[in-house]
Amino acid sequence: MRTLSLIGSGYAGIATAISFIENGYNTICVDIDEKKVESINKGINPFYDPGINERVEKYAKNKKLRATTDLKEAILNSDASFICVGTPSKEDGGIDLKYIKEASKSIGKVLRYNKKYHVVAVKSTVIPGTTKDIVLPLLEKYSKKKAGKSYGVCMNPEFLREGNAYYDSINPDKIVIGQLDKKSGDVLRKIYSNFESVKKNPEILITTDLTTAEMIKYANNALLATKISFSNEIGNLCKKFGIDTYEVMKMVGMDNRLSPKFLASGIGFGGSCFPKDLEALRAIYADLNEDSDILDAVLEVNRKQPHKAVDLVNKYDPEVVAVLGLSFKPDTDDVRKTRVAAIIDRLLDEGKEVVAWDPFAIETFKKDYPELAYKIILENNLKRAVKNVDAIIIATEHSELKNFKFPDIPIIEGRRVFKNKKPNVEGICW
Ligand code: NAD
Repeated sequence: MRTLSLIGSGYAGIATAISFIENGYNTICVDIDEKKVESINKGINPFYDPGINERVEKYAKNKKLRATTDLKEAILNSDASFICVGTPSKEDGGIDLKYIKEASKSIGKVLRYNKKYHVVAVKSTVIPGTTKDIVLPLLEKYSKKKAGKSYGVCMNPEFLREGNAYYDSINPDKIVIGQLDKKSGDVLRKIYSNFESVKKNPEILITTDLTTAEMIKYANNALLATKISFSNEIGNLCKKFGIDTYEVMKMVGMDNRLSPKFLASGIGFGGSCFPKDLEALRAIYADLNEDSDILDAVLEVNRKQPHKAVDLVNKYDPEVVAVLGLSFKPDTDDVRKTRVAAIIDRLLDEGKEVVAWDPFAIETFKKDYPELAYKIILENNLKRAVKNVDAIIIATEHSELKNFKFPDIPIIEGRRVFKNKKPNVEGICW
């Protein structure tokens, strides 16, 4: 077994491909977006992630990474396919399965002609029941073959963090293999048993049924998001008492029943996963007439948190505000559900001028938030961004900010960038 296909070549697909390559496989990345395919084949990663960019360049050159729009060619020349297409939110918070359905249908059509055993694994985040009740029936309908015979089905959720995608995909804490049957799961177990991290600790390889694997992903993200909103709520109280919440949560995290991670206060969580996954989970509760009190509270704290930054900056009555950082976290150009959008929206609503700076995410911001982008000045030069403004809000902890010599004007920190206290700097929870 040497070649694996990734169906959908976005953040998850490319990062997964790189991890497979580094553990001995060749990969074929399929996408319906011709520009993405062209870019990957030229060695240019279609998104920004430091560990991934250089490896896309290297592996496209030596052909271990190859991209195509031809799904048939990819499937017929590989042993397993990982579905990594997007599962965006619908208006009601539930996930839109149109890309999953389309991909399953197309894969099914190819499986009809495939002679050798092939495993289709869903890597996209999908609500419990999707692989069994939607993907599998579509594969059977369009292949005209029963799943489990000439092809297998697995659900193999992805847990990587953007910005750390390379590290996470190479060093997973756990690899969950939801299997239709043992034969399907064996193929994935064999693939992953090549991973150095699995050789070191085979216990990270976990087998479940298809639906449990789907639920593990949601429960995992929901608990991480809960830790963040909980820390924000504690941070809001610390602020009232003049307590440094980072000192408090550092000690809380030392309890070995907890962990020090995801206890940082700030303007809340954004990105393509947490907000979408929590909304999707909440939509399931609503569908089943069940209460989702904790999830509701987690999302409500997260909705309010960016406004704390605006409330604080308003104390200085600024006319022009520099908002530093557009991406939802450092070292990525991803602005999906970034909390910065809520800050900019409110500042504009209150009649302020906004200069927004980001080293990577200006183009993605223009694409995803055109209605905000045209009303503000977008800058990729930090010095120019903070020149002639009345106040600053730090919204993303990009590393360039750490050693920058800031002007002596009010600075509201929505993330913890400054280690030492400064008279002109105020944190939203510290
Ligand atoms: P993305 O939007 O960056 O990439 C999805 C890609 O799929 C796009 O390039 C799109 O053109 C392509 N696509 C859509 N339909 C296709 C089809 N029929 N055939 C081939 N390609 C098709 O999305 P992403 O961030 O990579 O997320 C993908 C999935 O992985 C989602 O379910 C997400 O929740 C999950 N996930 C993402 C991350 C992350 O860090 N981004 C982490 C864990 C899980």
